[in-house]
Amino acid sequence: MGSATAYQLAKRGVTVLGLDRFSPPHVYGSTHGETRITRQAIGEGEEYVPLVLRSHEIWRELERETGRMLLMQNGGLILANAGGESHLHGKPDFFGRTVSAAEKFGITHEILEASEIRKRFSPFHLQGNERGYYEPEAGFLNPEACVKAQLDLSESYGATLHRGETVTAILPDADKAGATVTTDRGSYHAERLILTAGSWLPQLLEAPLLRIPQIQFPVYRQVLYWFRVNGDIRAFLPENFPVFIWSHGGSSEGIYGFPALNGKAGGVKVATEQFIEAVTPETVSREVTPSESQQMYRENIAGFLPSLSENCVRAVTCLYTVAPDSRFVLASHPAHPQIFVASPCSGHGFKHSAAIGKAIADWATQTPSSLDLSSFGFPT
Ligand SMILES: Cc1cc2nc3c(=O)[nH]c(=O)nc-3n(C[C@H](O)[C@H](O)[C@H](O)COP(=O)(O)OP(=O)(O)OC[C@H]3O[C@@H](n4cnc5c(N)ncnc54)[C@H](O)[C@@H]3O)c2cc1C
Repeated sequence: MGSATAYQLAKRGVTVLGLDRFSPPHVYGSTHGETRITRQAIGEGEEYVPLVLRSHEIWRELERETGRMLLMQNGGLILANAGGESHLHGKPDFFGRTVSAAEKFGITHEILEASEIRKRFSPFHLQGNERGYYEPEAGFLNPEACVKAQLDLSESYGATLHRGETVTAILPDADKAGATVTTDRGSYHAERLILTAGSWLPQLLEAPLLRIPQIQFPVYRQVLYWFRVNGDIRAFLPENFPVFIWSHGGSSEGIYGFPALNGKAGGVKVATEQFIEAVTPETVSREVTPSESQQMYRENIAGFLPSLSENCVRAVTCLYTVAPDSRFVLASHPAHPQIFVASPCSGHGFKHSAAIGKAIADWATQTPSSLDLSSFGFPT
C-alpha cells in the first residue's frame, strides 16, 4: 500500500517522504512469498471490483514503464465443494457472489462441471459434484517485484525514501493542518500523513491521540507451503494450471494455490487461512515446524491434489491484518482528517493495492477520484 501510494504521489510531482522500518520488499510483513492471486469478479463484494480492474491497468502501465513482468493472467478457478458450498473472507456463498459480480461487470468467465474441470485441470481430485468458476483473466502478481517497481519509480520521480527508519510517535496538529512524525532518526512534519504500516498499524493506533474506541485489527499468522510434484510437472505449469481457491469441505475452510513456477524442485505453492490465534509482528513464530507441514499435507493436500508429494520444499509465514467482517479499512482517521489509514486489508488486499495507491493519492491531493473508497470507512 505504501509503495503504490508513494509511486502515485511522486508521479504527480508531490513532495513525498516514505519511511519504512525495513527495506521493502522484505519478509517480515504481509507482502512476500512470490505470488498473490488476482481475480476480477470479487466475491468479497462488488464494491471491490473497480479497484481490481483499475489495478490491472496500473500493473500493465508499471510493466511498460519498468520493462519488468509483474502480472501473469494464466486463469483462475474457484471451486465450490461437493455440497455446492463455498465460504471465504467472511462471505458465505463466495462462489455465487463471484458469479454475480462477473455477470454484473461483464467479466469473461465459464461455469464448469466437475467432469470438465477434471478434463482441463487433472491435478484436482474431485468428488464429482463440485462446480467451478473459471476466469481466464485471473492470475497472479509477483508482490516483491510490484513493490520494488513502484518504489524504484517513485524515487525516479523524486520521492525520498528512508529505509531502515522506524516511526516511534505520531502527533497530529491540533488545527488539523498536518502531523509530526518522530522516528528513531529524526522528526518530520507533513501536511498529509498516510499510514500503511500493515501488521504494525494496531501498535501505532494505540497512541492516545490516535486511538479509535472499539475498533481492533487483530493480526493472524499464516503459512505458505510449497510441495514437490510427484512425477510429471507439466500439468502444474502456468500454461496448464490456474490459480485456484477451493472450499474443499475438509477440516479447514479451504485451500488456495498457484502453478509451479520454479521447476520440480521449486514445488507448488498451496496455503490455507487461519483466524484463531492473534499475534503481533514481534511475538509471532516465524518458524514453520515439520509437524505443521505434515498436518497441512494430511488435511489439505493428500486428498485434494494427490500428485503433490509430502515433501514440503519450502514454507514461510506471513501476517494478515484483519478488519471487522474481513473487509478493508481505507479511510481518513475519524478524529484527524489529515491522516489516512490504509492497511487493514484482511488478507485479500494485494490485487487492489495499485488502485488503492491511486485513490489515496487523489485523497492527498484533493483530486476528484474515479475510485470510490466510501465503502471502506471505519466501522461504526
Ligand atoms: C499469506 C498471505 C497471502 C495473501 N494472499 C493474497 C492474495 O492471494 N491476493 C491478494 O490480493 N492479497 C493477498 N494477501 C494480502 C496482501 O498481500 C496484503 O493485504 C498486502 O500485501 C498488505 O500490504 P501492506 O502494505 O498493508 O503491508 P506490508 O507490506 O506488511 O507493509 C507494511 C510496511 O510498514 C512498515 N512499517 C511498519 N511499522 C512501521 C514503523 N513503525 N515505522 C516504519 N515502517 C513501519 C513495515 O516494515 C512494512 O514494510 C495475502 C497476505 C498474506 C499474508
